[in-house]
Amino acid sequence: MSSAYADAMPVIILWDIDHTLVENAGVSKEIYRAAFTQLAGRRPDVPVVTEGRTDRLIMRDLFADHGLSQPTWPDIEHALETSGTEHRAELARRGYVLPGAREALMIAASRRSWVSSVLTGNIAANAQVKLGTFGLDDLLDLPVGAYGADADERSALVPVARERIQHHRALDPATPVVLVGDTPQDVLAARHSGAAVIAVATGQHTAEQLHAAGATTVLRDLSDTDTVIGLLQSHAT
Ligand SMILES: [Mg+2]
Repeated sequence: MSSAYADAMPVIILWDIDHTLVENAGVSKEIYRAAFTQLAGRRPDVPVVTEGRTDRLIMRDLFADHGLSQPTWPDIEHALETSGTEHRAELARRGYVLPGAREALMIAASRRSWVSSVLTGNIAANAQVKLGTFGLDDLLDLPVGAYGADADERSALVPVARERIQHHRALDPATPVVLVGDTPQDVLAARHSGAAVIAVATGQHTAEQLHAAGATTVLRDLSDTDTVIGLLQSHAT
C-alpha cells in the first residue's frame, strides 16, 4: 500500500487529553477543587475523583458527596472556566506533553483525509487551556470535538463528535472512529459506540486494567510514532 493510497483512506481520531496527550501533574484536580470552593464557599473535604469521567459528573458527585444542592450547569461551567484560566500558569509550570503525543498529532493533522479532534470530559474552555498551554491546540480540529458539557456519560460523547464531524467536515457517516485514551472509561466509550480504541497506559490505569476493560490494543505510551500512526491507519477504510 503506497502512502498516497493510505492517505486517501479516511478515519476519525478522537484523542483524550489528560494523561493521554498531556500530564497535568495534579493541576486538573486543583481546577475542580477551586471551582467547587468558588461555588460552595468552602473547600472540598473529599478527594476529587476524575478517572475519565465528564466534568458534569465530577462536579455533580463533588456536591453530592458534601450533601450540598447542585448549582445550575451554567454556574458550574462558568466556575470551571474561571478556575481553568487561573490555573494556566501552574499547568505550564508543572505539566508537560506526554512522550510522542506532539509527533503523533502532527502526522495525524498532516493527513488530508483524517479528522483528528478530541473527546474529553473537560469543558471546551479548559480543553483549550490544557492544549493551548503546550501548543497542541493548532494540531487538532477542536471545533468538531466532544466535551464535558455535551453529555454526562463519556460514551454519549462519541455520537456528539461524529455528528459534528459529519455536519461540518462532510465525511461519510460510515467513516471509522478511533478513540485514544488512558482509562477504562475511554475503552467503554468506544465499546458502547462502535468505535475502535487505542489505550495508553500513561495514566492511573495499568495495561492489565485497560485490557480487562476490553481494550485489545494497549500501548505503554505514544512514543513509538510509527506504531501509533500505523495503528490509526489500520482502522482507516
Ligand atoms: Mg484521560
